[in-house]
This record gives sequence, C-alpha cells and structure tokens, in this order.
Amino acid sequence: MRRKNNSSSILFLIIFGGIIAGAIYLYNSVMFERNAPVVTITKNLYWNLKEAIDITIEDDSGIKWYEVKMISSEGEKILAQEPLLVAKTKLELKIEYPKMSYGIKDKEVKIVVNAVDVSKWDFFAGNTVSLEKSFIIDKKKPLVSLISNSYGIYKGGTALVIFKAKDENLDDLYIEVNKKQRFKVQPFYKEGYYASLVAWPVRDKKFDARIIVKDKAGNTMRVHIPYYHKAKSYRKSRINLSNRFLKGKIAELAYDYPETQGIEDSIEQFKIINEEVRASNEKVIHEMTSKVSDEMISNFSIKPFYPLKNAAKVASFGDHRLYYYKKKKVSESYHLGLDLASVKMGAIRTQNYGMTVFAEENGIYGNLPIIHHGMGLYTIYGHCSSLRVNTGESVKPNQQVGNTGKSGYAMGDHLHFGVLVQGIEVRPEEWMDKDWIRLNITEVMKNAKKLIGRS
Ligand SMILES: [Zn+2]
Repeated sequence: MRRKNNSSSILFLIIFGGIIAGAIYLYNSVMFERNAPVVTITKNLYWNLKEAIDITIEDDSGIKWYEVKMISSEGEKILAQEPLLVAKTKLELKIEYPKMSYGIKDKEVKIVVNAVDVSKWDFFAGNTVSLEKSFIIDKKKPLVSLISNSYGIYKGGTALVIFKAKDENLDDLYIEVNKKQRFKVQPFYKEGYYASLVAWPVRDKKFDARIIVKDKAGNTMRVHIPYYHKAKSYRKSRINLSNRFLKGKIAELAYDYPETQGIEDSIEQFKIINEEVRASNEKVIHEMTSKVSDEMISNFSIKPFYPLKNAAKVASFGDHRLYYYKKKKVSESYHLGLDLASVKMGAIRTQNYGMTVFAEENGIYGNLPIIHHGMGLYTIYGHCSSLRVNTGESVKPNQQVGNTGKSGYAMGDHLHFGVLVQGIEVRPEEWMDKDWIRLNITEVMKNAKKLIGRS
C-alpha cells in the first residue's frame, strides 16, 4: 500500500512538473509574448490638415490588425484599417486628413490608433494597444508685411529689411538668401516687428531674398524682398609665385602649421596654406561672426568705419586670385577684406561701439580681433603686430584695438580690414561710406519707425 502510494506520487510529480515546464515554455515563447505593439505618432500638437501624420507601429511578434480613427464633431471616421494576412513587425503609415471633412469648424480633433499583434497570449486574442492624441487645427498661414527695406543691394554688399510677422502659433522666422543662406532676424521697435541685415555673398552670381515665416502647424509664408540688384564686377588677378616667396614666407608659415608638417614640396606647402589652413581659419571667423541677439532693438546707429588713418588701399575686397607657378595654375582664393597700409605698427581704431568676441592668433589672419557692433554686423582686423583688446571686452568709438603688422600670411606691414554680416563677408567700402549708411540703414530704419508708430 505504502509502495503504491509512493509510485503514484512520483508519477504525479512528473506530470505536474511537465505542466509547469510547458507553461514556463509557453509563457516565454514568442508565440505567447505579452508585449503590446508600440505606437509612435511623430507630429507636434498642431495640424494644418495638409501634411500627413506619420504613425509607426512596431511589434516583436508581428502586427495582425490595426486601425486609425479620427474623432471630431462629425463623429468617428476610419482613416485607415487593415487586417494583415502576413504579419509585419513594423508598419509606417502616412495618414492624410479626409478630404470630405475639410469643411468642419472644429478647433481640435482626436486621432486614435488601435493595433493587435499575432501573439497567442490572452486566450489567443493577442496583445492590444490603443493610443490617442489630440491635434489643434491651424490652417491659417502666418501674416507677413514688409515695412521698409534698403532700395538696392550690390553683389557682395549689404541691405536692411524690416517687416511685421503675426501668427497665433509662430514657430520660426528668418531671411533666406539664394535658397541656402539663412539670416536670423531681431525683434525691432515694437512687438511683432523684426529687422535683419542681409548680405549678397560675393561668389553668388544671382541674388534672391525672401522672408520666411513658419507656424507650428507647418503653414509657411514666403515674401520676396524687392531689392534692386546692382551688379558689381570684382577683379580677377593672376599671381606668379616666386621662389623667393615660396622659400621665404611660405617656408616660415609651413614650419608653424600642423597641416604642413612633413610636407617638403614648396608648392604643396603653399596649396595647403592657401586652401586648407585658410578654410579652417575662415571657419573660425564665420563661427565667431554668426550670432545675433534676440533682444529687441529700436536703434542701430553706425558711424563710418575708418580703421587706419591716412592709409593707402593695397588690395580690394572680392579679388579672385589665381596662383601660377612655372605657367601652371596651382591654387586660387578670394580676398574677402580690404587691405590698408600706412606706417609700420600703425594704430588701428574702431569708430563704433562693440563687443570683442575674439582676440587671438588665427592662422593666416595672424593676430586678429573680431568685434560685434550689433545686428550681426562684425568687423575684423587681421595681421596685427599687437592686440589692444581682450575677448569679452566692450569697445568705444575711437578706441584702439591693435597695431598693424605682418603676422600670419602677410608680406608687408598692413591691416586686413573685414566686415561680416552674420558670417558672410561683405564690401567694407559700404560701411566706410557716410552716404551709403544714411540711405541704406539710418533712413530705412527711420521710415520703418514712422510707419510702425502710426499703426
Ligand atoms: Zn587682406
């Protein structure tokens, strides 16, 4: 009796253990996985009804059924629904707003996504998910009106624009030049108004400037700025490299720069300095000169720059230089500043208030102070023998910022004076000309204020 009892309990344990093991197996198998599908809706809170809403549904075991519904004052509307004969682990849906519902006056609609996976879990029903998200409907394009702008712009030059922009859900606004260059705008005078200096990059043959205003729903307004385009031709010059120059200045620079270490050939050294080193030095300049404040401005008074007294111009802005050695073209570059020379170690002064954003050695530009005068207008002073300002220091009109010299890639003692608007080099001559400043900046701003004041 006792023995029989023993063997039946062993049998019972084996069966019981088998059931437990089977249950554990099923519990952990893919067939019975318990993770519900994951739904992601990649869109912010606003919907202009034109852009599709991107919805992703993912599941480890596979999705067997899904639906997307819209709930509005018209009731429930199925926007997408599908039983899948072959289960998929990832679905990417583009949900369009139903054309039939375009007339509804709702300010908000709700999107509901339901999905079920192929898991046998929950008595073969599968894991289900239901996700809902509300969208604020915004079909209105931002309102943009041009207030005032400089009459014209020269190739390589600067212009001003002042405009008004309004939208309940304003998201982003900027000026786009030639579909690639963005200029930030700064709040101007009264709420809802903006101003920006824009530049025609000297290497671009054509010019097209637009005010772009976007709202959070993706509605975009583009307004063309009707500047009169003024052609300007720049010099193209052929420079023959001499052995004296290559064995002198170039060898001296090549000794210093990490880019030219281990390079023995003079022409190769020159090419690296004129192209690679130049590009990385100009990258520093562009980065240091691209910032614009978000603070509201009501005035921007600039006096003509006159950085070096009694100076002679020794090279112009925009010169396209082609370098030849033994009748073969070896390199080229653009000269994006004005070269001025007077006495050795001449005093360099700025005529306007500003903030020193950089005052360090910068490769071929030598010792270089960079000063921000507001509205994204920067001046740079290259090849200094000594610096008279420090980074972070503010400057006053007529303050000395450095002494001329030949640090960096410079043959004789001179000043490389550059003007940049939001990281783009522009013609310094304009900012040295009293009449140009009055017509293109001061009066445009004055007119804008008059118009804004009346509204
Ligand atoms: Zn120069």
